[in-house]
Order: sequence, then C-alpha cells, then structure tokens
Amino acid sequence: MAEAKEVKVEEIKKSAEEKSCPVQRSLYYISEFLSGPMCGRCFPCAMGSYEARVRLQSLIEGRGTEADINALKRITAEMAEASMCKKGKDTASFIAGWLSEEAFDGHLSGTCSSGECSALIEYRVVSGKCTACGRCTEVCTHAAVIGEKAKPYRSGVPFEIRQKRCTRCGECIKVCPEGAIILVGVKESTLAGV
Ligand code: SF4
Ligand code: SF4
Ligand code: SF4
Repeated sequence: MAEAKEVKVEEIKKSAEEKSCPVQRSLYYISEFLSGPMCGRCFPCAMGSYEARVRLQSLIEGRGTEADINALKRITAEMAEASMCKKGKDTASFIAGWLSEEAFDGHLSGTCSSGECSALIEYRVVSGKCTACGRCTEVCTHAAVIGEKAKPYRSGVPFEIRQKRCTRCGECIKVCPEGAIILVGVKESTLAGV
C-alpha cells in the first residue's frame, strides 16, 4: 500500500486559518490534506476526507443542503473515533471545530458572512452614493462596470455592475472614494461584512 505523503497538519491548519470563512478554511485544509497519496489504513479517514471535500465544495458553490452539513458531522465523528493516527484525529477535530461556527450554517441560505465565497456574493453600486467618477471602471479588467463618467458640464450617470461579467475580484470596491460599492449576499441581499 502506498505510503502517505508527509502531511504536516498543524502547518496546513495555520494557512487555513488565514481565511475568515469556516467553509473556505475547511475546504482548504481538506484539499491540502488530500494533496498527496492517501495511506488508506482507516476507512473513515480515507473515504471520509474525500466525501468531506465534495460536501464542502457544494456549500461553497451555493448548492449545499442540510444533508451536507449532517454528512460532515458524521464524517468528523467517525474519523475522531476510528482514525489510527494523530493526523486523522486532528483533522476531525479541526473540521468539527469550524463546523460549529454559525457562519457555516449561513451557507445553507446562501450567505457567506465574510464575503469569501464568490458564488454567494455580488458587488453592487448604490446609485445614490455614486458620483460617476469612473474609478471603478478604470480598474475593472472585465468590462463589468458600466455608466457615464461625470464631466465638468455633465453630471454623468451612476455606474452599475453587470453581474454576468463580474468575476468578484473586488478591485472596484477598493478604489471607490464614496463607499458606493457594496458586497451583498446573492440570495438574501444582506451586506456581507464590509
Ligand atoms: S487516520 Fe492516519 S493512518 Fe488512518 S487513513 Fe488517515 S492518515 Fe492514514
Ligand atoms: S469585482 Fe472585479 S470584475 Fe467585478 S466589477 Fe469589480 S473590478 Fe470588475
Ligand atoms: S468608483 Fe464609486 S463613485 Fe466612482 S463611479 Fe465607481 S461606484 Fe461611482
């Protein structure tokens, strides 16, 4: 049987914790955990980690359901109990800890409170705050912002973001001097913490 690649779980955890979203954190962690050959000595870890990755991906893409969360709970409980090595047990404990965060459940209703899951957020212009300065359109490399720039003799037209073209790169929000661009949850239209 193939020897598992030396995976340093504490190091992966440290990098994962740079993400604010617990679902993104969990997916990053499990993807790194699975980046080498799986030793496969214990079924709950060997199979569970692959299933966990699929379930987390669904949540991040806005397709997640209660069944995904329940499956993740089951997987982490089984891994905690039946993993033969510390890596498996630590993995179960890290994911279970992130699963318990309220923001994890928010993904079921299409809300990523940290704004890190791009499938669940949109950038929008608050037209009443937009002065049509045009800075957002200058930084957007995807031609996703449209509007008419103000000139000394014309007030211009408030800008708008074409969602189909927007890649959620976030460059426009950084340059808007009026705070007129906001991050909104796709399904619930709630501000996503910016
Ligand atoms: S718990 Fe450890 S020994 Fe068991 S499959 Fe996972 S990495 Fe291998
Ligand atoms: S988030 Fe990026 S792609 Fe979308 S409108 Fe802003 S700059 Fe353009
Ligand atoms: S940068 Fe802000 S104020 Fe300027 S056009 Fe874009 S949304 Fe409007």
